[in-house]
Amino acid sequence: MANKIFDLCCENGHAFEGWFSSVEDFEEQGARGLVSCPVCGSRRIVRRPSASHISSRREPRESPEILQAEAMKEVPEEVRERFEALMAKVRDAAGRAEDVGADFAHEARRIHAGLAPERNIRGLCTPGEAEKLREEGINVLPVPESAGKTLN
Ligand SMILES: [Zn+2]
Repeated sequence: MANKIFDLCCENGHAFEGWFSSVEDFEEQGARGLVSCPVCGSRRIVRRPSASHISSRREPRESPEILQAEAMKEVPEEVRERFEALMAKVRDAAGRAEDVGADFAHEARRIHAGLAPERNIRGLCTPGEAEKLREEGINVLPVPESAGKTLN
C-alpha cells in the first residue's frame, strides 16, 4: 500500500506533514488520538488544502473532516463540566495517594504482585514505563500537573 503525504495543520496553526495510506487511515488514526502536532503536541489536527486542492475543485471529502475538527473545538458545556469534575476527582485522589516519587514503577509492580500493601500510589514514571505497566495489567493514569502542561 503506497503512502501519501498529507498536509496537516493543528488547532494552533502549526503546519506539518504526515504520511498515511489513505484519507480513511488518517481519519482513523486521528480519531484514536495517534496524530499529534510535532510543535505543540495538539491532537486536534485538520488537513490543510494543498496547492493542487486550491487550483482544482474542492474534494467533497474535505468538508466533513473540517466540520468534524470544528465540532471538536466546540465541546458542549455539560461535557466539559463533567470532564472537569472528573479531573478534579482524579487530582483529589492523586493528592491523597502515597507519593513514592521515582520508585513508582517498582512499587506499582510490588503492589500488583501482592508484595506490598494494596493502596493508591502516585509518583514519577516515563510514558514508556507507564506503557509497560499497563501491558502488565497495572492501572496507570497520567495526571497533568497543570492544565497548560502537555503530556509526553
Ligand atoms: Zn501545533
